[in-house]
Amino acid sequence: MKRTLTSLEGQPLEGQRAVVRVDFNVPLKNGAVADATRIEATLPTLRWLRSRGTRIILLSHLGRPTAARDAKYSLRPVVKELEHLLGAPVAFMEDPTTEAAARQSRQFKRGEVCLAENTRFFPGEEKNDPELAKAFARLGDFYVNDAFGAAHRAHASTEAIAHLLKPAVAGFLMAKELEYLGALMANPQRPFVAVLGGAKISGKIDVIENLLPRVDEILIGGAMACTFFAAMGLEVGKSLVEADRVALARQLLDRGGQKIVLPLGAVVAGEAEPGVETRSVGRDAIPADLAVFDIDRSTQEEFGARIKQARTIVWNGPMGVAEVPPFDAGTLAIAHAMADATARGATTVIGGGDSAAAVTAAGLQDKMTHVSTGGGASLEFLEGKTLPGVAALDDA
Ligand code: ADP
Ligand code: MG
Repeated sequence: MKRTLTSLEGQPLEGQRAVVRVDFNVPLKNGAVADATRIEATLPTLRWLRSRGTRIILLSHLGRPTAARDAKYSLRPVVKELEHLLGAPVAFMEDPTTEAAARQSRQFKRGEVCLAENTRFFPGEEKNDPELAKAFARLGDFYVNDAFGAAHRAHASTEAIAHLLKPAVAGFLMAKELEYLGALMANPQRPFVAVLGGAKISGKIDVIENLLPRVDEILIGGAMACTFFAAMGLEVGKSLVEADRVALARQLLDRGGQKIVLPLGAVVAGEAEPGVETRSVGRDAIPADLAVFDIDRSTQEEFGARIKQARTIVWNGPMGVAEVPPFDAGTLAIAHAMADATARGATTVIGGGDSAAAVTAAGLQDKMTHVSTGGGASLEFLEGKTLPGVAALDDA
């Protein structure tokens, strides 16, 4: 267990400077924030600190700038959005690494919020450089990490700084992510069902390996299922199959036994384009000239029934090419089945960028127990890996 913001309750926080690492890696469009979900997710932490008179210096990365100070990746457009959401002015700091910045941080008023420029503009961020971390640490009196989405990277603003600026605690968003994802690993209510999909089995092998001994069932959809079909000796047509992973899939089937549940049938087409002609076929009747782009209706029902009897369900990866209707039908059916399960008292957790996006697109995000804000980070968590940005925080 990691120490959280709540542990600072009762301490004299007024006038203290908090360096808060957030994940404001948001999509921008025409110089404005196109989706503020990640910013909104940090508001509980920011409001809590402000209401205690803490001065807040925010650190975040944005995108993957290759050159230093690539204007395209400036965090400046986020200022306005944050001001709007907080209902308070937000200052901007061009260069958080200078002595002048450290002096400036001492001049902020109580409750004032300042956003620093993209941490990746500064050499050393991605190398976890202790010197850069030292410069960041000069901006505050304690450290809060609320950037779960960046916690799987050991960077200066996520890892090295947590060793230098104490106390180093988890913000509310980080704490919530660790609580829900951690509970899956520690003490899930049974039956515990995992639903896995997406394009490639290769990116999810470690997830399967880690989940297999923990869950009661793994339901597999997406293109991933086709590699398993190939392992079963079935015709897979032009489906996305990783030929070099067929042997591994066979091995997993042997090891997993009844635990691994594959689609009964599929929706096939010539290409994943809107308006193409589609067919539903049994998994043993996939035409050689077509490809699998979704699970079929009978599989929706089969998976839905298994989700219905589960007490804990974790989902990563869409069941088909969910970004191209009608191949989103299987993914939507799973999302609805999980929403129903939540309503009946099951714990439902979504990890993974595309699966979370599908749930949000269906407007079902509030009908899940937890939708993780960290795509890559949640995947690494499900792989059983230690996230360096989490490990570096103080223990509770
Ligand atoms: P997540 O981001 O939730 O972890 P992934 O990134 O692993 O999910 O997988 C999402 C991708 O998988 C999407 O781009 C989707 O189009 C693709 N995909 C799913 N099923 C298929 C399929 N049958 N054929 C081709 N691509 C698929
Ligand atoms: Mg993805």
